[in-house]
Amino acid sequence: MNLHQYAETHEVTNQPPSLDGANLYRIDLPLQEWSRRYGAGWAQERIDAYGALAGGPLMAAGFLANQNKPQFSSHDRYGHRIDLVEFHPAYHELMRTAIEHGLPSLPWTDPREGAHVARASMTYLHSQAEAGSGCPLTMTFAAVPALKLQPELAEYWLPKVLATEYDPRNVGDRHKVGVTLGMAMTEKQGGTDVRANTTRAYPVGAPGPGQAYELVGHKWFCSAPMCDAFLTLAQTDKGLSCFLLPRHRPDDSRNQFYIQRLKNKLGNCSNASSEVEFRGALAWMIGEEGRGVPTIIEMVAMTRFDCMVGSSALMRQALTQAAHHCAHRQVGGRLLAEQPLMQNVLADLALESEAALALSLRMGRALDQPDDPHQARFARLITAVGKYWICKRAPAMINEAAECMGGAGYVEDSILPRLYREAPVNSTWEGSGNVQCLDVLRALSKEPGVLDTLFAELGDGHGDPRLAAHIGNLKAAFADTADIQYRARQLSEDIAVGLQAKLLLEAGNTAVSDAFIASRLSGNGRVYGVLPRGVDVAALVQRSTPNWPL
Ligand SMILES: Cc1cc2nc3c(=O)[nH]c(=O)nc-3n(C[C@H](O)[C@H](O)[C@H](O)COP(=O)(O)OP(=O)(O)OC[C@H]3O[C@@H](n4cnc5c(N)ncnc54)[C@H](O)[C@@H]3O)c2cc1C
Repeated sequence: MNLHQYAETHEVTNQPPSLDGANLYRIDLPLQEWSRRYGAGWAQERIDAYGALAGGPLMAAGFLANQNKPQFSSHDRYGHRIDLVEFHPAYHELMRTAIEHGLPSLPWTDPREGAHVARASMTYLHSQAEAGSGCPLTMTFAAVPALKLQPELAEYWLPKVLATEYDPRNVGDRHKVGVTLGMAMTEKQGGTDVRANTTRAYPVGAPGPGQAYELVGHKWFCSAPMCDAFLTLAQTDKGLSCFLLPRHRPDDSRNQFYIQRLKNKLGNCSNASSEVEFRGALAWMIGEEGRGVPTIIEMVAMTRFDCMVGSSALMRQALTQAAHHCAHRQVGGRLLAEQPLMQNVLADLALESEAALALSLRMGRALDQPDDPHQARFARLITAVGKYWICKRAPAMINEAAECMGGAGYVEDSILPRLYREAPVNSTWEGSGNVQCLDVLRALSKEPGVLDTLFAELGDGHGDPRLAAHIGNLKAAFADTADIQYRARQLSEDIAVGLQAKLLLEAGNTAVSDAFIASRLSGNGRVYGVLPRGVDVAALVQRSTPNWPL
């Protein structure tokens, strides 16, 4: 008798083919359409090339970089202080690829129409493969407007910040062609409340903008502590001021920037986040003394934009995986993607994903037109609205996408658990949900013309009576100023979905806009998968299902 025949217990069937190696751009019709729509038609080849990298080598690197967390050593074997964080080679591959493709630099080095949209599109692809490396990439990108406020510092630092060369060596910045930048504001007693910062800055010589100071104090969160320099806040006699603090002094010695420990985080595992102390660390003042918050807000506005892009990316990757799974998985002899209730869920997820992308790239479009006052006011408002709404929608949406995959979506072999753990951080850092909603009120009440810009942008409903009614209700809600802080989340949500509806209507795909308006402006939708009757769910599911292999 041949016992060997029993060794093969079963055949593997009814499992989806692997998506490994898929070009994330080519399987994403909404990305292709929206990036073209908002001025990045010229960049499609670049975005396409990045899509191939993101779905291939970067996706593989993403798993390795998260399985092998960064390791911190405070001292070397002889007892010398070294403050070193070491990363897996996969993390460096992610950083190198992104920097070489201009993810932190493109709109600053090539500021033509559509440049912000092109960069956001590539960042969207990168973040689908791996989000943790997005933290230093984004901070490096975002530091540029703040750095420009101090021309003599910018003259030295900007060419290095904008270089497409990644140099992770633990050496002084003067030895590097390319550098990365971080940001350290949050202290133990306050993150939202940065004005409560106790870190103190002492002038080395003459005080004032561009001058050298020594900083004494701590920061409770300082992500990517192996960056070459950090924008930070400290108190002077004139109040909270912004400083650029390099990790090395000009003589190449280590600056007095001491890493206490790394945070043990829910997700975002490839990225190191640390607690640090400044014990006389040398730093240079950026911007006006005592105006540190408005100075660093120049950076924070950009990182908030990237939170929108990042959460849109996490949602898209979750949708891609779920739609692909359901297109190949049968239950009861029928593909899940063809079963009515699963179609309702998938179509709803697809709507959320596309609406998030549309608003994020519309924001990129506004950043591409900084000299247009309407666009500048739009960007001011939508930074807060979009950061709040898109980041808030992501965790629940990703959870639902994982559930579409059944048990497979809960297992670490798939990317879904990582996406799910990553999602809440975009909502928390760079100003948490409530802070964004209060900022929406601040922008609308304190900054001239922002409310008018919002309603000019929303228009009259673009021929859709449901959107027209929504806009009317929003106007009434703003006319009533009683309890406005208490209602700030509702107002921010209503702005977000109103704008998303308007953008989808403008784009002209009625299956998408109609379903969005029918579901998002009607008050239902406490969970995903409750689209009303009459929605063309098959078209929506098809639009977002990867046509793979290409
Ligand atoms: C993984 C990770 C990495 C980070 N990296 C960095 C970094 O590199 N650099 C850095 O500077 N910081 C970093 N942070 C810190 C982050 O920006 C702060 O945690 C965040 O700004 C919130 O500050 P907090 O933790 O002090 O919370 P708090 O300020 O105490 O806020 C707690 C809650 O209260 C809400 N709240 C605040 N004010 C109001 C109000 N008036 N009305 C109603 N609700 C309100 C907030 O929305 C929040 O939900 C990081 C955080 C995380 C999780």
